[in-house]
Amino acid sequence: MQRTQITGTDTHKPRTHTCGALRTEHVGQEVVLKGWVDTRRDLGGVIFIDLRDRYGLTQVVFEPHVNAAAHALANSLRGEFVISIKGTVRRRDDDQVNPKLPTGEVEVYASELVILNTADVLPFAVSAHEEKTTLANEDLRLKYRYLDLRRTSLQENLLMRHKLYQVTRLYFDAHDFVEIETPGLMKSTPEGARDYLVPSRVHPGQFYALPQSPQTYKQILMVAGMDRYVQIVKCFRDEDLRADRQPEFTQIDVEMSFATEDGVYDLIEGLMKSLWKDIKGVDLETPFPRMRYDEAIRRYGSDKPDLRFDLEIQDVSEALEGSGFRVFDGVLANGGKIVALVVPGMGDQGRGYMDRLDKDIVRKKIGAGGLIYFKLPTDGSEMYSSVKEHVLPTDFVNKAIETVGAAAGDLVLVLAGAVPEVYKQMGALRLHMAKELDLIPDSAEGPWKFLWVTEFPLLEWDAETQRYYAMHHPFTSPRPEDMETMFDDPGATRARAYDLVLNGSEVGGGSIRIHNREVQSQMFRLLGIDAEEAEERFGFLLGAFRYGAPPHGGIALGLDRLVMLLTGARSLRDVIAFPKTQSAQETMSNTPAPVDADQLEDLHIQLVDLEEEGSEPKTKAVKQPS
Ligand code: ASP
Repeated sequence: MQRTQITGTDTHKPRTHTCGALRTEHVGQEVVLKGWVDTRRDLGGVIFIDLRDRYGLTQVVFEPHVNAAAHALANSLRGEFVISIKGTVRRRDDDQVNPKLPTGEVEVYASELVILNTADVLPFAVSAHEEKTTLANEDLRLKYRYLDLRRTSLQENLLMRHKLYQVTRLYFDAHDFVEIETPGLMKSTPEGARDYLVPSRVHPGQFYALPQSPQTYKQILMVAGMDRYVQIVKCFRDEDLRADRQPEFTQIDVEMSFATEDGVYDLIEGLMKSLWKDIKGVDLETPFPRMRYDEAIRRYGSDKPDLRFDLEIQDVSEALEGSGFRVFDGVLANGGKIVALVVPGMGDQGRGYMDRLDKDIVRKKIGAGGLIYFKLPTDGSEMYSSVKEHVLPTDFVNKAIETVGAAAGDLVLVLAGAVPEVYKQMGALRLHMAKELDLIPDSAEGPWKFLWVTEFPLLEWDAETQRYYAMHHPFTSPRPEDMETMFDDPGATRARAYDLVLNGSEVGGGSIRIHNREVQSQMFRLLGIDAEEAEERFGFLLGAFRYGAPPHGGIALGLDRLVMLLTGARSLRDVIAFPKTQSAQETMSNTPAPVDADQLEDLHIQLVDLEEEGSEPKTKAVKQPS
């Protein structure tokens, strides 16, 4: 009666439903389903298959009396075989209903089975029942990414990412933005990282840079009168990788003519509202709070403070001034600060814990000189100071404790040092203590603490190279009030730059730009870029500024980071289909890889062994003599 074969050719009609579609309303219908064998159970001669595709799981039942041959063939099914089945939808017995599955009220009685493809034994288990499998090691999962991506959680991340593209494009379209592609092969734009370079075949010895961002092009589009630009764009930065960085990443890149800070904040708050509403069904409250950069550093020791918990840094310099304690006196005499953090519920910590905190965290991990602390036991007994009374008199300690408002049961952590370093160190300790106290929620369900950090410094002084760097990028405008400062006291100049922060992560950053040639030239001078170099590198932009450049500004949002926060994924690698590892490799296809000598020759490149210099990398590309 029915056919059963192993041909690999699909003799069935196209599927009538996906594996996530069937419900009780389909009972009695004959259906064709196609998908992967997720699990197989053999119960007293009856074989149950969970058939899986991107849409879900459907239970398929093979009974010998329905079709003996199909049943026999089902015996040979193994995990991840690709099959097509034809059968009839039945209601499951009441005690067999699986409320966790959308298809859990029905099953399909198979009358036909075609094996479309077999699968070798997998290097690790893949199943939609993720709770039943242990997660394989990430190296292995990245090497077999096509198997890893069969996991429901990764598929859900990619689907959420897709949804984010859609909502974003609709939102910007509704606000009169035009999506415009900018070149992938371009001239270097300074965003503070190393470029990925692409050698030119037709121009020996010359290179394109992959975009670190489309910054210069989007500004040129404003000069061109496009008014409102958006692009979902790949950017490339060759940096040493940290856990939350990828060498290629995606930005939602935005630029607007006649923009003000408030205009950018409104626009982006609206986008966040739409994303959270459409993707998570959450109503975000706007406007988001705003905090100046210097305040963020003073209160949280970070320019991306996590506001899901308090633990604010407090200044105890005044209370401890004149204590006679050499460390404190020295720091204050040099213009530094003494700062404190009150950690509730830790006033009874023992010596061992405190020593480890000092050695492993404060000194080793955070790089501060050392920790001073005062413990206020829960039972109200005497305060304990890590510095002996004759070195740091108790009166001073008590004054500091009073200043920070600490009470019985609190631990007061104190660091002293130069500004702003001491704040940043305390900021890192704040995060560490929040983790210790389990104050940081670990879920994709909020709370969602957005914050605009504003008025960043324009420049950052680098002591090692003895020069200024642009804190955001060289196209960022000083605040109008600081135009003079830019010439008189460059280091004190504040910028019209802002970051959007969510739960302690920077999700975007931008600025109102310089649109005046004079100011732009001064900025280049401050960065040590002389007129000739400025002309060579950015002549096109400076040139464009001559011909009616409107005031403009914008922002770029890290799309991968947004998806990560929306999904609750632990790593950017879990929201990118084919991510790079920490060592910038894509291990499934083995990228990067050597290339043929012919290709190098075409590109006028010769590899030279630098082994004798003992430096990494071992080879360097040089231009061949022509
Ligand atoms: N180009 C900047 C960046 O990639 C963003 C901006 O200023 O709009 O960070």
